[in-house]
Amino acid sequence: MSRSVNPSGRPSVVIVGAGPRGTGLIERIAANAPELYGDAPLDVHLVDPHPPGGGRIWRADQSPLLWMNSTAEDVTMFTDETVEQDGPVRPGPSLAEWARGVRSGEIPVASGPAGGAAALGPRDFAGRRLQSAYLGWVYERSVAALPPRVAVHEHRRTEVRVSGSRAGRQQVWLAGRPDPLLADLVVLTLGHLEAELGLEQRKLADFAARHGLTHLPPAFTADTDLSALRPGEPVLVRGFGLAFVDLMVLLTEGRGGSYATGADGQLTYRPSGREPVLHVGSRRGVPYHAKSGYELDGERPPLPRFFGPEQVDALLARPGTDLDFRRDIWPLIDKELGFTQGAMVEVRSVHKSFGPLDVLKGVDLDVRTGEVTVVLGPSGSGKSTLLRTINHLEKVDSGSVSVDGALVGYRRDDTAAARRASRKGGGGRRAGKLYELREREILRQRTEIGFVFRDFHLFPHLTVLENITEAPVSALRRPKKDAVEAARTLLARVGLAEKADAYPRQLSGGQQSARCPPHGILRHDAARPLGAAGARAAGGGAEP
Ligand SMILES: Cc1cc2nc3c(=O)[nH]c(=O)nc-3n(C[C@H](O)[C@H](O)[C@H](O)COP(=O)(O)OP(=O)(O)OC[C@H]3O[C@@H](n4cnc5c(N)ncnc54)[C@H](O)[C@@H]3O)c2cc1C
Repeated sequence: MSRSVNPSGRPSVVIVGAGPRGTGLIERIAANAPELYGDAPLDVHLVDPHPPGGGRIWRADQSPLLWMNSTAEDVTMFTDETVEQDGPVRPGPSLAEWARGVRSGEIPVASGPAGGAAALGPRDFAGRRLQSAYLGWVYERSVAALPPRVAVHEHRRTEVRVSGSRAGRQQVWLAGRPDPLLADLVVLTLGHLEAELGLEQRKLADFAARHGLTHLPPAFTADTDLSALRPGEPVLVRGFGLAFVDLMVLLTEGRGGSYATGADGQLTYRPSGREPVLHVGSRRGVPYHAKSGYELDGERPPLPRFFGPEQVDALLARPGTDLDFRRDIWPLIDKELGFTQGAMVEVRSVHKSFGPLDVLKGVDLDVRTGEVTVVLGPSGSGKSTLLRTINHLEKVDSGSVSVDGALVGYRRDDTAAARRASRKGGGGRRAGKLYELREREILRQRTEIGFVFRDFHLFPHLTVLENITEAPVSALRRPKKDAVEAARTLLARVGLAEKADAYPRQLSGGQQSARCPPHGILRHDAARPLGAAGARAAGGGAEP
């Protein structure tokens, strides 16, 4: 039989796990003990290989590049009147209030990670090391608040087994320690535990081993040895969640890369050359919005158009309550999903006036890849003006135009600096504000957006082939040989292969207009589809 560590007979609680939950338990013991136990003795054994307060997740010895995903004003370890609980409320500072107290000197702390408190505002995200300092402080304060006869014993070890009958004291066995702790109560506040590899992960690990590749199973990224991922090496990453963000940070800035803010406020990543190449995917395909209740700093995504509250109300108001998912609901979801795949051309609330004449009054338009869109209207109704806004030949008075997700003619200031300035009242700078691009950048955008005019605008002194290859060679700097090859293919597609060396005057009107679509396409990268409303409208038979 083994000796036990606390044979004194004093009541004892063993808490396994000294992270936020274990720390919170000590805070609650401190709050409740006087009323429940008077000055009765109690031993609290706190078991964790990591320092109490932060525990493993929030320990101080991790990369300073890793951040929280909760804003500082939302993080607290203390109770207030909103908490449903038995026992007294013991108010205390949130992370944001604590940081303010540290800054002002009201809350004395040792230097070190708490230094990050200097810059932390209520709606900022703290680094994990700062959260570690806050949790360490909460722990110290909670221990100090315990009644005199309650003693806390820290054990920086891993619990490996609990044994004993339910009726008697439990035995809590710690790694590297021959004697168990005796407990009247064992509380497991272990957090997320590592899982054994499932079948699929085992298969991946075996495959990697057989082919001399590296397989890193799902894990707490900060604890994963990433040194096996070599510079320039392709890495397939599964999942777009929090662990991915950590991984990306550790493999980019963590490998010496840095971000620089240009004079235009644009953030640019400067690689160190030591990064591997990440190919990231997930079933959802986009990163998660970590806290759905948080206000977005940037522009709000639009509400659902085809499956929103209005359509749901209409479905519910239908006489006869039998809704069939496939018949009634799925088509709306399908339409919504198709829509949210994103339009290639997005025109949003565009206004344009010429003097007193309001030509475009809040135009919204979405054109999806492969769609033919016809803009119809009487002369002077603004069709050409609308099309000209799409490649910024016409500046809009308000609203925005995007092609392939990129704003045309403008850049939106969504940098962290702008968000901070916004929160502090702006001072001229505000998140989401639009700035017009420089002429050079606008010209570069235009090389991506084809425009076919009603009256063809062919160069009379150039052959059909030369007319088609002029823009790709001169403006896009494509090799002439490639442009000629692509032009011949496109001419063959519209049945004009034999007219390649003819001059415009030798073509009929119909042949001239048939030449226009290849011209529009070749202004783009030949691999791209016909990429703008102007070109597509012409392809569909309408004209500006
Ligand atoms: C990478 C990451 C980032 C996160 N970011 C946020 C965030 O920004 N905001 C937020 O609200 N939440 C966040 N979370 C959620 C996080 O789980 C909670 O914030 C919080 O840490 C949970 O506290 P806990 O005490 O329950 O668990 P943990 O913090 O996991 O603590 C459990 C402790 O138990 C110890 N332990 C486990 N097994 C044993 C054993 N056998 N013996 C001894 N000790 C043991 C561990 O070492 C650990 O210290 C994050 C989680 C992760 C993994």
